[in-house]
Amino acid sequence: VARLHLENDLRRALAENSELSINTPLTQNSKNQAKKSKLLLHYQPIVSLATGKLAGFEALVRLSHPMRGLVSPIEFIPVAEETGLIVPMGIWILREACRQMRLWQLEFPDLAPLTMSVNLSGKQFSQPDLTEQIKQILQETELPAHCLKLEITETVVMENAAAATAMLQQLSNSGIRLSIDDFGTGYSSLSYLHRFPLNTLKIDRSFVKGMRGEGEDSEIVKTILTLAHNLGLDAIAEGIETADQLEKLRSLNCEFGQGYFFSKPLDSNAAGLFIASNLDN
Ligand code: C2E
Ligand code: CA
Ligand code: CA
Ligand code: CA
Repeated sequence: VARLHLENDLRRALAENSELSINTPLTQNSKNQAKKSKLLLHYQPIVSLATGKLAGFEALVRLSHPMRGLVSPIEFIPVAEETGLIVPMGIWILREACRQMRLWQLEFPDLAPLTMSVNLSGKQFSQPDLTEQIKQILQETELPAHCLKLEITETVVMENAAAATAMLQQLSNSGIRLSIDDFGTGYSSLSYLHRFPLNTLKIDRSFVKGMRGEGEDSEIVKTILTLAHNLGLDAIAEGIETADQLEKLRSLNCEFGQGYFFSKPLDSNAAGLFIASNLDN
């Protein structure tokens, strides 16, 4: 029953989100807004570990529910996947994330180019027209392709490695950046890894969490970093929560980091303030 409710909420949220984008008068908007479910994006900063400078954001979707507040994607993404709702939802997420990044570029013209990372689910990744759809969104929002990075888990890529190679090649040829998410947790095949046109490996939070002294998890992180660098890829460490973890990762030449130590995911206003304060340093 809870699942059915969630599915209905998601349908309504999607309808509401597409309605909002067709310029409903503001007053009417704010009156109704409080009562309705809708989707929104939060943005978590990704930081260069060498310079401490902001390098980009990861867009993370939330369902804003009139009774339940913000619902976690861990709860509703699986439902969206099963029902196929993830496909239109994913398009909305991509458009919104690109639109927001373009707005920031215009608002902060002195800003070094930031990357917007967007998560892609398996269903989305198997849509044959994905590249065309994304190219259209980039054109519409006027965001340069190299400012968009897609995060795909190894499991999704390995489920159908042959088709995945072709899809990744298409996306990469369009100038879009590609990242393997949650690296080290799924079924990965090293023999395929070097054939994919990737830019980044994201080291899963579970390994960063266990990094203490010379423990086993530190060895795993070291190994992943060596692998990434040998393949000519950058690495992003997820879930950095402490100064110790940061120091360790920096000493291992991990390029980028993300985690509560720097910032939690922020709403668009707070993320804008984060950019402004980063410019001042
Ligand atoms: P993910 O892609 O691995 O995203 C990182 C998750 O780790 C986010 O959870 C983020 O809030 C959380 N996180 C970041 N830093 C820290 C930290 O220092 N400590 C801890 N404990 N957690 C941290 P969130 O936003 O709840 O998202 C969960 C998952 O839901 C994501 O995992 C991703 O798989 C999925 N997801 C989120 N947004 C989207 C989306 O737009 N599309 C798709 N397909 N999936 C999404
Ligand atoms: Ca991710
Ligand atoms: Ca991840
Ligand atoms: Ca993860």
